[in-house]
Amino acid sequence: MIQFQNQYITVFQSGLYQTTCTVVEAKEFVLVVDPNWLPAEVEEIKQHVARIQGKKPLLLLFTHGDFDHIIGYRAFPSAKVIGSKGLAGHPDKRKTLEQIHEFDNDYYIERPYPIDFPEVEFVVDEDGKKLVLGETTMTFYLAPGHTHDGIFTVIEPLGVWVAGDYLSDFELPFISHSVKEYQNTLRKASTILDSHNIKVMVPGHGQTASSQEEVLKRIQLAENYLDQLIAAVQNENLGIMDELEKQMAYPSKFTKLSHQENISIIRREYKGDRPPAR
Ligand SMILES: [Zn+2]
Repeated sequence: MIQFQNQYITVFQSGLYQTTCTVVEAKEFVLVVDPNWLPAEVEEIKQHVARIQGKKPLLLLFTHGDFDHIIGYRAFPSAKVIGSKGLAGHPDKRKTLEQIHEFDNDYYIERPYPIDFPEVEFVVDEDGKKLVLGETTMTFYLAPGHTHDGIFTVIEPLGVWVAGDYLSDFELPFISHSVKEYQNTLRKASTILDSHNIKVMVPGHGQTASSQEEVLKRIQLAENYLDQLIAAVQNENLGIMDELEKQMAYPSKFTKLSHQENISIIRREYKGDRPPAR
């Protein structure tokens, strides 16, 4: 379903995990970000693209390599693919594809396109890297923390920021990669807000933010949560850790595991605990 629309972008929201897919209609190209999850939802996105594309080239961008975000890759075979160097050299490509196959088998899902890991053609390897097409400029920033391979994308003059799995209105940080890098990425988010004229920001899960105040509020929400959880871990304050777990929306086995993972990564990076043996 369409969650948000303006002159330049249409944000689709999956029935699963409130995952977003952004389609940007620039003067010079059409860009699809993270097409997902279910076949009928990917088909709806394809039909929208077919309606608006005309003779414009199609670009496909992945905000990071988590399986839910790359699941629709081969539904757009003619597109030029943009992603980070971390995505291009992803160390667990096979495991990620297995997660997709497992999901599809669990729910008896047939897809009319193959499952593959994205082959990145335009590699984002540094902060501030640009892709200029006519009057439209995409500026990319490395955004590690949630995963090692995240990117932020700012599209100007449209004022669009696609953030991947950061800055949700309801989902607290899932660290899974590095808490210190997550904190750096949030600082980078503040810099982006100061240095670009942002009109809308689309997170990987949840509602599109359509004011700078709202984006700032979300940066602060994530920073406050991390500050509190780090302090609780440093002081071994189990009560506060439990409180913070309860603040996660849609409590489930999944949020419980994410909370435990957040704590163990903080222990490792702030208390020098060794990572668990794999
Ligand atoms: Zn995600």
